[in-house]
Amino acid sequence: MKAIKEERTLVLVKPDGVMRGLSGEVISRIEQRGLKVIAMKMVAIDRKHLEKHFPSDPEWVKGLGKKTMKTFDEYNIKALDHYESDDHAHIGAKVKESLFEYMSSGPIVAMVVEGIHSIDMVRKIAGDTLPVFAPIGSVRGDYSVDSPAVANVEGRAIKNIMHASETPEEAKNEIDLWFKKDEIHDYKRAGEDVAY
Ligand code: GDP
Ligand code: MG
Repeated sequence: MKAIKEERTLVLVKPDGVMRGLSGEVISRIEQRGLKVIAMKMVAIDRKHLEKHFPSDPEWVKGLGKKTMKTFDEYNIKALDHYESDDHAHIGAKVKESLFEYMSSGPIVAMVVEGIHSIDMVRKIAGDTLPVFAPIGSVRGDYSVDSPAVANVEGRAIKNIMHASETPEEAKNEIDLWFKKDEIHDYKRAGEDVAY
């Protein structure tokens, strides 16, 4: 059970979240759930770091393009009015570029969070990627209003306050990228013996 109890995930308060003064809100929701912040820092990151953070797999980039095209179709927007090509790889590369700009537009508060099913628990705290689908009560549902259609046409990433790893593999890679071993701490939270 140790592996489940001590599951780790990477959480980022993105530049829009930091600039809107929502870092405390994100941290507080994580702590209130009973999860433990075991590493934390504020950083401004460069392109080299971001290139390692976002997958370089061409399939991932294509997937990003496909998702963008789906949004365009849903809102009857012609991709060719806004991009030189409607090829998924081309659009995906453009959206990825806009992600770089977004993530380097200000400082980021980065955290490692540990606790029972922390990956899924924090994804739930974050809510859906798209603010319109993020339930009320989630960070994105309570604090974000951006639209993929608007963001895609304006050539920028959707502003949605926070990042949280999606899978154990992503969490491991991201934690190794963002934190050195000696930046991650070990302590017992009061209440651990009572909550589970
Ligand atoms: P997340 O894990 O919920 O953050 O979502 P993804 O890993 O799929 O995407 C990473 C980030 O890219 C999101 O948090 C958004 O900021 C941005 N993003 C995702 N999908 C789209 C999209 O369709 N259009 C635009 N413009 N940005 C997107
Ligand atoms: Mg993701």
